[in-house]
Amino acid sequence: MYIVQIASECAPVIKAGGLGDVVYGLSRDIERRNHTLEIILPMYDCMKYDKIWNLHIAYEHLNVPWYGGTIHTSVYCGWVDGLQCFFIQPHSNDNFFNRGCYYGNNDDYMRFTFFSKAALEFLLASGKRPDIIHCHDWQTGLVPVMLFEQYSWLGMGDVRVCFTIHNFKHQGVAGKDILWATRLNNEPHFFSYDRLRDNFNPFGLNLMKGGIVYSNHVNTVSPHHAWEARYTDVSYGLGHTLDVHQSKFNGILNGIDYKTWNPEEDTHVPHHFSIDDLSGKLKNKKALRDRLLLRDEKKPIVAFIGRLDQQKGVELVHHSIYYCLRNNAQFVLLGSPTGREINEHFWREKHNLNDSPDCHLELGFDEDLAHLIYAGADMIVVPSSFEPCGLTQMIGLRYGTVPVVRGVGGLVDTVFDKDYDQFHEEEERNGYVFYQNDRPALESALERAIGLWHHYPLEFQKLQKQGMKYDYSWKRSGQEYIDLYETIRHKKEEVVEDEEK
Ligand code: ADP
Repeated sequence: MYIVQIASECAPVIKAGGLGDVVYGLSRDIERRNHTLEIILPMYDCMKYDKIWNLHIAYEHLNVPWYGGTIHTSVYCGWVDGLQCFFIQPHSNDNFFNRGCYYGNNDDYMRFTFFSKAALEFLLASGKRPDIIHCHDWQTGLVPVMLFEQYSWLGMGDVRVCFTIHNFKHQGVAGKDILWATRLNNEPHFFSYDRLRDNFNPFGLNLMKGGIVYSNHVNTVSPHHAWEARYTDVSYGLGHTLDVHQSKFNGILNGIDYKTWNPEEDTHVPHHFSIDDLSGKLKNKKALRDRLLLRDEKKPIVAFIGRLDQQKGVELVHHSIYYCLRNNAQFVLLGSPTGREINEHFWREKHNLNDSPDCHLELGFDEDLAHLIYAGADMIVVPSSFEPCGLTQMIGLRYGTVPVVRGVGGLVDTVFDKDYDQFHEEEERNGYVFYQNDRPALESALERAIGLWHHYPLEFQKLQKQGMKYDYSWKRSGQEYIDLYETIRHKKEEVVEDEEK
């Protein structure tokens, strides 16, 4: 099969969170299975150019229709760890991708509308006709819309689209200017509730909704979150749309790339280790303490790695810091703040705790430090208010770092409570789970984890190893995506056969 991924991130060259990991890991798995795979990305000024090999112009004069004219665009080609990537670079005063950041501008919806249009225009102009286009999140929600409404008439009618939703919270609600910009010139048609009209804002066009309505298949990134999206409020108003399209909606658990996240050969960490010999992990703990100036004492290190966002349960993250410090544990936080208030709050905390020998808060994005924390910490806390899949608990498991998580979304599918899980045998349990979104619940789980570390070290080590045995690589989920691509492709063939009859 010939598959093209269109996304706003791909690790390690563009990574703001899990989306980047998933586009990279899934693509590598697809390629390993001998399918042809290409990735189309924006050419941000701030991406990591040193991670791209042989970057060169692939298409110099692409004229992307935009409002009444065109935007002259170049497409670059380069390889990221063997994956062929195309980067879209528009030349206009809008400077869509020269903003020093990936997201967070007021005109994000316009930036990614342009990206979606340019990606399709590039496929059209270069004669590429993939079997499957795989789109990710609202940034690419307009791809299936334009494919069906415009490009299918231009010889791309056989291309099928899979749309993956990594986070329902961000849906990309835009005004009618996106219709003018892309020349989807039929306002009443697109402003229908059956198509793009936002379920709550009658003047808004919802790009994620467009992705759901127009794609051949839609999925979110874990089975439990797929259930939550339909039956609880975590789909942020899209529950009804998912209900209407339930026959083409499911959940596929993310994987992690086992080459990037491998304690036996991780180049970011000083000591390697495996399930058979955890001594390297202890040395990494010492290295982590040395790097962050923490004291060397008989205490576990509890870590948090992630975006500092309401979604990640920042209030409970904050509480875990003080709970651990009061209860004979150290705490390490690596967090990228997402809003001004949260940013200021954690900077204040960082100053307050600056002299603590048992705590370090690192604010910002640091891939290198993240690896060392996974390798050196004893536990990783994930107290999310909702979590479509979550990668940090899976990476933690791979590095023998016991997850302490709230039982939501993909965390339910991947972490099984040591003491209370009813569906897994004792030797299949791998962490601690709490359910209520409050401090006592968090404390009860942390207390059990820290207690086990102090009083039953051999039991704790057994739990670490049980977690390390889990296989959350792309092996299984990659196959699920391939099966899915085959299914929607064959549906196409059935349609053609029916038409021929
Ligand atoms: P998200 O909701 O942000 O996608 P995930 O748990 O799915 O959360 O994925 C988070 C990914 O981003 C993991 O690979 C994690 O290690 C990484 N990550 C998150 N925050 C940081 C940070 N501040 N520095 C380095 N890596 C980070």
